[in-house]
Amino acid sequence: MPTSVDLLVRHALIVTQDAQRHIIEDGALAVRGDRIVALGPTAEIDAAYIAARVIDAGGRALFPGLLNIHTHLFQAAVKGLGEDMPVEQWVQAVTFPTAAAMTPEEAYWLTLVSCLENLRSGATTVMDFMYGMRDPALHDAVIRALLDSGLRGRYTRTIVDAGADMGIPPTMLQPAEEALAHAQALQAQYSGAGDGRLDIGLAIGVIWAMTEAGLRAVRRVADATGMTITMHVNETPFDNVAAQRHWGRNTIPMLAATGVLGPDFIAVHCVHMTDEDIELFKQHRVAVAYNAVSNMYLGSGIAPIVQLAELGLPIGIATDGSGSNNCQDMLETLKFSALLQKVGRQDPACVLAQQALDWATRGGAQAMGLAEQVGMLAPGMKADFFLANPFTPKAIPVHDPVTTLVYSAGQANIETVVVAGRVLMEGGVFTHLDEVESLRQAQRAAQTLARRAGTEKLLERRGKWRPI
Ligand SMILES: [Zn+2]
Repeated sequence: MPTSVDLLVRHALIVTQDAQRHIIEDGALAVRGDRIVALGPTAEIDAAYIAARVIDAGGRALFPGLLNIHTHLFQAAVKGLGEDMPVEQWVQAVTFPTAAAMTPEEAYWLTLVSCLENLRSGATTVMDFMYGMRDPALHDAVIRALLDSGLRGRYTRTIVDAGADMGIPPTMLQPAEEALAHAQALQAQYSGAGDGRLDIGLAIGVIWAMTEAGLRAVRRVADATGMTITMHVNETPFDNVAAQRHWGRNTIPMLAATGVLGPDFIAVHCVHMTDEDIELFKQHRVAVAYNAVSNMYLGSGIAPIVQLAELGLPIGIATDGSGSNNCQDMLETLKFSALLQKVGRQDPACVLAQQALDWATRGGAQAMGLAEQVGMLAPGMKADFFLANPFTPKAIPVHDPVTTLVYSAGQANIETVVVAGRVLMEGGVFTHLDEVESLRQAQRAAQTLARRAGTEKLLERRGKWRPI
């Protein structure tokens, strides 16, 4: 007697990303609730399971959902504004004024479109790094959009207790204890929301926006609550300049001295690293978020990711916010993650396609501490996956599924997306919300926000594109 399940996907080429990197030709996958019950050859799964809903995936490849472990979802607000600037100038001219002027409703729609693009490019888990806005309604709005999108996610709340001299607006600055109390309130309210899809973490904006007491307080709360800590680290040489000015030591030694580093610490960027920095990361088993496109966009440099990976540190890849990438396309990021390392080392073999996919799946899951739930397909894991249909000129012809996904696939190939057992997109169409209406709302929000924040003046001598 076959066992009843909720969803069966049949006749797919399944790229499991399990420990042996098994690939199942003509494979099937059975889902009950939010978990994978079984996967194997279609004939075997067909004989053992029946389902109310069946997706016939002949000709498609099925991959575990990608993890985008660093983004600022609200930054769709600054997409297309203030490009081609160094990062310190860009945050002051564009990002801070926008963040300071944004209403909760604008934050909701702008976050939602960022989430939709993550889903369209195969990401099923995101780690959002939300700025330290004092207004709790802005945090609630971003969390609501993240939940409504259907994504799995970790919402991290930034602590910024210094840096007024660097242009950080007063609406985004508060004593660490106050910000940490708010993060704990968010954890109490939202951790486990969306049927367990959401959890809450802590974020440290950047070294030049923290006091020493603030750094120590973040570690204390992380230890007490189990929340992870993520932080922008050495994206540009300025981090070390500022740390030297304040404390007479570089950023990473300062983080080590204040107890911030640890296996629950996810360091973002890590472009400008000394041998001492790398040694400290190894000692503290720090995880790294690699943002290839953002690093290229801002001209930050090439992070020594191959070297960090060789030390056994968990590496995940990420888009960063749409302000310093101009999109949330995880497939583009997957490709550039491999390419940028090849350029840096002048060695085409230093990152293979399989390695890039590993960073986007297993590595990201390990970095976020979610390796028991996502990042590979196996019985008991969360049912987070997507189906790729290769029939576009960009992808065809295909031979090897991993090579195609990393180097030739685009959003047009992502046909079906399932998160926590829920089919969010089928045949390229979102089933749970009105995508076109969401895009209209986001466009409207971005226009009115740019006017209010004064960033519209950056467009003074250029034509404005108004699609609606
Ligand atoms: Zn960032």
